Amino acid sequence: MKVQIEKIESYDFDKIYNFIEKLQLEKILRDKKKILVKPNLLGAFAPERAVTTNPVVVDAVVTYLKKIGKDVILGDSSGGTTSIKVVWEKTGMNKVAKKHNIRLVNFISDGIIQQRTKDLKFPITKYIWETDAVINLCKYKTHSLMSYTGAIKNLYGVIPGLKKSDYHKEHPDHTQFAKVITGLYSIVSDRIAFNIMDGIVGMEGDGPSAGDPRNFGVMFASRSASALDYVASSMMGFQPDKLEYIIPALKIDNIEISEIEISEEWKHFKFKKVKIKKIGLYVKLLTYSPKFLKDIFKKYYTYYPDFNDKCKKCRICVDSCPVQAMELKEGDAHPTIDYDKCIKCMCCHEMCPYQAIYIHKSFLAKFLIK
Ligand code: SF4
Ligand code: SF4
Repeated sequence: MKVQIEKIESYDFDKIYNFIEKLQLEKILRDKKKILVKPNLLGAFAPERAVTTNPVVVDAVVTYLKKIGKDVILGDSSGGTTSIKVVWEKTGMNKVAKKHNIRLVNFISDGIIQQRTKDLKFPITKYIWETDAVINLCKYKTHSLMSYTGAIKNLYGVIPGLKKSDYHKEHPDHTQFAKVITGLYSIVSDRIAFNIMDGIVGMEGDGPSAGDPRNFGVMFASRSASALDYVASSMMGFQPDKLEYIIPALKIDNIEISEIEISEEWKHFKFKKVKIKKIGLYVKLLTYSPKFLKDIFKKYYTYYPDFNDKCKKCRICVDSCPVQAMELKEGDAHPTIDYDKCIKCMCCHEMCPYQAIYIHKSFLAKFLIK
């Protein structure tokens, strides 16, 4: 399975378009007419924050799809309670839709189709099945709960709005949540015709929304989301088998690691000093230690969301908390958290548009989380 990588230093439309042209999507989409383009629209973040797929990338992909005669719709569902219309405006999607006269679709109001695996039920936007194919247009970032987010995790957005929070409530730790992600992937992977990742300016540190933009200067593309993530996460400095959802997703795609092809120049490439959360040691300690050591480890490895002075009291975090652990009282400078209820899903951290929530880490957590 081929993963294509191209060095593109800035959001130069022509360079991005040339890369898209080389992907031979015309052949792949030969018998498909109606295409859903699904960017990462996590929330109402301006493109320079590097949280969402950059509108120049979306523009280039839509321009190409229109040129080869496709009917395109554009859609994603953000995670919090912000109106999707505000998200479309702030992320630059309105301009792209207007330029190409295409429809922006609303995953929350337009209808869902219920699907299930052996263990899990998923409400999924109907557009996954009411189009002929999906182009997964993801963003290259670190992630506070799952360590890394790229192509596979971007598909979590097919679950409309706050319904996503329920899975955090029921599957709070990253091992359980990885099973949710792979369960969902097993349902939708057949519908994804191609994956293109905007890594021109991605994110490091406290991603997926409160981290630092990082000019990685690359774009990735592959027919397989799992092969793409395997390569891209390795280049960030992760061991993909420690991320817990990439190897199961490769199995779903029926791909052996030895079958992943990348060009010679990228084979051993790693970005320098990316600020990432390495969970390898943490997982090993939790998996292989005797119980008394695990208990000690859990006691000293603590992390939880806390507030800085940037809070604008918008309440988005309060309304996004899946276990109603947050409260904003009149006169307070920011919400408060009932830490006995908090399940550390980090949805509040993810959804705050003002970077007003940071992750407080104990000494041991600081040592294990870069
Ligand atoms: S912490 Fe962020 S999301 Fe929560 S109320 Fe303050 S500004 Fe809004
Ligand atoms: S307070 Fe934040 S981290 Fe805790 S459960 Fe609520 S949303 Fe999740």
